[in-house]
Amino acid sequence: MTEHDYDLFVIGAGSGGVRAARTAAGLGARVAIAEERYLGGTCVNVGCVPKKLYSYAAHFRHDFEDSAGYGWEAQPLPPFDLQALVANKNREISRLNGIYASLLEDHGVTVYRERARLAGDSRVNVGRDTVTARHILIATGGWPFVPDIPGREHAVTSNEFFFLDRVPDSIVIAGGGYIGVELGGILALLGCRVTLIQRRNYLLPGFDADLRDEIEKAMSRYATVILEDQIERIDRLDSAILKMSLRSGGALEAEQVLFATGRRPNTADLGLDVAGVATAESGAVIVDDHFMSSVPGIHAVGDVIDRTALTPVALSEGQALARQLFGPGDQGPDYSLVPAAVFSQPPLATVGQTEEQARERYDNVTVYRTRFTHMRHSLSGRDEKVFMKLVVDSESDRVLGVHMQGPDAPEIMQGFAVALQAGATKAQFDATIGIHPTAAEEFVTMRTPD
Ligand code: FAD
Repeated sequence: MTEHDYDLFVIGAGSGGVRAARTAAGLGARVAIAEERYLGGTCVNVGCVPKKLYSYAAHFRHDFEDSAGYGWEAQPLPPFDLQALVANKNREISRLNGIYASLLEDHGVTVYRERARLAGDSRVNVGRDTVTARHILIATGGWPFVPDIPGREHAVTSNEFFFLDRVPDSIVIAGGGYIGVELGGILALLGCRVTLIQRRNYLLPGFDADLRDEIEKAMSRYATVILEDQIERIDRLDSAILKMSLRSGGALEAEQVLFATGRRPNTADLGLDVAGVATAESGAVIVDDHFMSSVPGIHAVGDVIDRTALTPVALSEGQALARQLFGPGDQGPDYSLVPAAVFSQPPLATVGQTEEQARERYDNVTVYRTRFTHMRHSLSGRDEKVFMKLVVDSESDRVLGVHMQGPDAPEIMQGFAVALQAGATKAQFDATIGIHPTAAEEFVTMRTPD
């Protein structure tokens, strides 16, 4: 048997890669990992973490405004300093980068701070070296996709968003998926005039139709939402203004334009052709149920396989692969029950099936819906509603989907994800005692179906 330099060589130290590397090393494998940009990958550096910190920053605006109803003397909003936020965020991310470095080091993983590329057979080129590994894991994540339109060089993406040094006076955001909705909400609350433009006739593709309507209503309170249109060309009018020409024939002017038009698997120039690894049209590495590519010994997890592009899924896939290769085995994530949140203003969260999916799959579906004013806003006066929805299979009584928009929806939904994983029925929801007074208790008191 050929002696390889490593049992596992991981390309990409993001969520999936780091989890696979340290799990494999913990199981006794000799592991190396290559990272060309930043330890922790997208989530830590330009994704979940900075996004959530910015979302907290933005939300203070509502806290300041809402406090007047609670007896705090009304004050003009204090000035906001984006540079202070960027500096503090950078400091926190450096701390997290350090934690990732220690995690890998403590597990005895060799870290190459360089780009890696498949070189055929079991070889990987990393910097100037070529190393061999019994198993190679592609965990290179995704990259923002910007359509090839004239003037695209004027656009920024989520990658640059977290390094802007001032809040623009105005911005056009192309794309109504979760990233566009989240970044639009953040900028609007920080004082920017936001226009969100979306190709489809609804926001948040993939989410329950009621949640999509709720988010459109909510966003329309602080941003201009344009549906069924798209940017076809960008021109710089002067140093401060860009002009976006639209497919409909209209035009928009703003200081900045941000494209949140999806992400593509990061597989360019990775040597996949040299190694013979098959990819889908999107560039995603095609893998089987065990995360193995078309080439035995070469595997892939995370955004690069384009299944469910979320950090906890990448973590679960990375861990499952390591345990399959070097440990007791692991089935990997249950893709049918991945809870998800959108940190919009207010946030929303969901687990399980949308009503549309349930109606396609089940003969009889019962739906419970409620829309009400959050207790906090009884005194704040803010015109903002909480929305909740349960989708139930009428025959088995099993709860198929739980959906919510409102304060703390992401925190609330995690518990319901456990309930759905355990196969909870509507009768069990009904038998559960509420926590009073909360918004979440509505989930166990909804008795009247539509
Ligand atoms: P990544 O984390 O992208 O890691 C891939 C790594 O590989 C990168 O560090 C890259 O530099 C490196 N790399 C690529 N090619 C090479 C090479 N050839 N050699 C060496 N290194 C290489 N998910 C959530 O669950 N919750 C959220 O709230 C959330 N918010 C998000 C907000 C934004 C703005 C974005 C962009 C994403 C967000 N995500 C969120 C998605 C989440 O970040 C990804 O699903 C997750 O990071 C995927 O992990 P990964 O390991 O597949 O890839």
